[in-house]
Amino acid sequence: MSRQTSANNSTKQGRNHGINQPGVPVAASNGNDLASLFECPVCFDYALPPIMQCQSGHIVCSSCRPKLSSCPTCRGPLGNIRNLAMEKVASTVMFPCKYVSTGCPVTLLHTEKGDHEEGCEFRPYSCPCPGASCKWHGSLEQVMPHLMHSHKSITTLQGEDIVFLATDINLPGAVDWVMMQSCFGHHFMLVLEKQEKFEAQMFYAIVQLIGTRKQAENFAYRLELNGHRRRLTWEATPRSIHDGVQVAIANSDCLVFDTNIAQLFADNGNLGINVTISIT
Ligand SMILES: [Zn+2]
Ligand SMILES: [Zn+2]
Ligand SMILES: [Zn+2]
Ligand SMILES: [Zn+2]
Repeated sequence: MSRQTSANNSTKQGRNHGINQPGVPVAASNGNDLASLFECPVCFDYALPPIMQCQSGHIVCSSCRPKLSSCPTCRGPLGNIRNLAMEKVASTVMFPCKYVSTGCPVTLLHTEKGDHEEGCEFRPYSCPCPGASCKWHGSLEQVMPHLMHSHKSITTLQGEDIVFLATDINLPGAVDWVMMQSCFGHHFMLVLEKQEKFEAQMFYAIVQLIGTRKQAENFAYRLELNGHRRRLTWEATPRSIHDGVQVAIANSDCLVFDTNIAQLFADNGNLGINVTISIT
C-alpha cells in the first residue's frame, strides 16, 4: 500500500498544459492549405480568434501574445490590432486536431477543436496517480512501465475480489491511498482520497482502468465497506485513466463518505474496502 501526501488536489493540471504538441501542418495533405496560414510563428499552434496582428499584419496566437513585447516576425510593435478578416476566414477553415502527430485523423472548425481535443482518443495519457506531483505523459502502452518504474511503492494484488486496506485514515490533511488490482488481463488502479471540505473530512473511493474508455465499458466495479452489522456499497463502471478520477471525485461520482462513516467501519484507524471487478 502506498500513501502519498499531496499538498492539494489540483490534479486537473497536466491535461492541457505541457503537451505542446504543435499542430503539424497535415493541412497540406488534406488539400487544406489554409490552416497553415494560421500557424503561430512562436509555438506553431494555430492562432485562432481573437486573432491579433502587428502593425505590418503578422499574426501571433493569443497564448503567446501576452508573453511578447514585439512582433516575433518583424520585431515591430504589437499593439492591440485585431485581424477581423482572418477571424472570418478562420471560421470556415477545417483545422487538424492537435494530436494529429499521434494519429488523430480528424479535422474540425476551430469552435469544435477544444471540445474534441479534450476527449480525443489520441491525446497522450497523463500519469494516473492522484495528486499533482507527477507530470508524466505518454501512450497507453507506456503507462504500466511508468508506474512500475516511477511509482514502485504502489502494491499490486491479483484477483477480481480483493481488499484495499487504507492505513492511518485519521492522518490530518489531504491524503491519497493508491493500490493496483490485476485481473481479467487488465490493471485497475484503486484510489481512496481524503479531502478537507467545509471543515469536514470527506473520503472518495474510485476505480480506474489502465485502458481506454471503450475497454472500461466492459467492466463494472463494486466497492463495499463492511462491518458492525452495517454495509455501504457503491457500484459503477470504472473510469478510464484517459479521463482520470478528479472530475468524478469533484462530482461525487464515486463512493463518498465522511469521517463519521469511516469510523464506523475502521479498525484501529485502518479501513478495509472490498473491491470486486466484474465483466459486464
Ligand atoms: Zn503561439
Ligand atoms: Zn510583424
Ligand atoms: Zn483528435
Ligand atoms: Zn507518474
